[in-house]
Amino acid sequence: MNANTNIFESYESEVRSYCRNFPTVFTRAKGPLLYDEEGREYIDFFCGAGALNYGHNPDLIRDRLVEYLQCDGVMHALDMYTRPKREFIEFYEEKVLKPRGLNFKLQFPGPTGTNAVEAALKLARKVKGRPGIFALMGAFHGMTLGSIALTTDAASRAGAGVPLEHVTHVPAPYMFPELDTLKYIETLLTDDHSGVEKPAAFILETTQADGGIYPMPAEWLRGLRELCDRHDLLLIVDDVQVGCARTGWFFSFERAGIVPDIVTQSKSIGGYGMPFALVLIKPELDIWEPGEHNGTFRGYQLSMVAAKAGLEIMLNERVEEKVQGRAHIFEEYMKKIEDLAPGKISTRGVGYVWGVDLAGCDGDKAPGTTSKRVLDIAFKNGLIVERVGRGNSVIKVMPELLIDEKTLRKGLDILTDAVRDAVK
Ligand code: PMP
Repeated sequence: MNANTNIFESYESEVRSYCRNFPTVFTRAKGPLLYDEEGREYIDFFCGAGALNYGHNPDLIRDRLVEYLQCDGVMHALDMYTRPKREFIEFYEEKVLKPRGLNFKLQFPGPTGTNAVEAALKLARKVKGRPGIFALMGAFHGMTLGSIALTTDAASRAGAGVPLEHVTHVPAPYMFPELDTLKYIETLLTDDHSGVEKPAAFILETTQADGGIYPMPAEWLRGLRELCDRHDLLLIVDDVQVGCARTGWFFSFERAGIVPDIVTQSKSIGGYGMPFALVLIKPELDIWEPGEHNGTFRGYQLSMVAAKAGLEIMLNERVEEKVQGRAHIFEEYMKKIEDLAPGKISTRGVGYVWGVDLAGCDGDKAPGTTSKRVLDIAFKNGLIVERVGRGNSVIKVMPELLIDEKTLRKGLDILTDAVRDAVK
């Protein structure tokens, strides 16, 4: 803790806001790097929990924002047509959806991921005329009352009086490898002794991120799509964290070749940390009247400017190809990390989102002891990582997608050394 962080210590307690894992004051950021007031440089493998897929302050996005501000562009235009809105929608439809053979209507639900999830739930319930929702154990879908009812982490839910009566959580396939989870879900839907009301929708992340980095098998995702069709359930993919090319596909569900009915996006869809969210809706489900799901900050203009520029970067820089082509580097390091404590460390991931699960190293210590040591050592050595999963025992490895190979390897080296030190 340096002297300049004192104000944060005196104003905040451990419960009031985010955990303060990084005791310094950050002032500047570029690409994969962050700098603090003391001039120290850090490699950022946290990336705003997935909000910075194209790195900090990419020139193109920054320049577009400055240009828009300098010509007195409209900043707020509730319910009005604007140029940034038109340009974003046109670009998204022409350059993102059409080439992929996808047809969705875009809805602007508000500034954050949880707004997108709330909108998706509300729409699904209205379309099907049923309130029930199926979600996966281990899911994270947000912190407001609808989305937190789907989020299963006990610490996030604590004391919130979360209404659960219409939510059914089912095991994710990794939880009980011997269980045929699709068959289990089907039994809940068809057995009139299951006690479960028929839901409107099934919502999931194709790779659980805050739940501990668990990619769902592609075959299983295809089975789930087919099951939803057979039982008249809408399939909602929450792509808030692992969307925008994080997994190697712009939409994470492209990995499995499925098309959901509703998709939620936020975080990196805002370009580089601008608050923005989207709900993609199959056209026939768009039954909302204009203004039926409204609010003041729906599609902030600067976010639209940044979002379009972010998509241009994604396409021009061929980010999806780069991510797919470089996934082997992660595999190489993950294997090395597992070998540091054979049988005690497991790793998993896809594209540029990986988890190092250190639960097996905690022994009789509190869950998360080892991962916290890794986080602290890594920070001291100039690398920023976050912890997720059960007991916060999984280190989430999530660099920006345009990171150069040298910096990527340097960050992974720091991580490997930190794990080696922590498990000694
Ligand atoms: N869905 C998923 C999959 C997320 O990871 C998150 C955020 N971690 C959210 C929804 C909620 O997004 P926000 O924090 O922007 O409300």
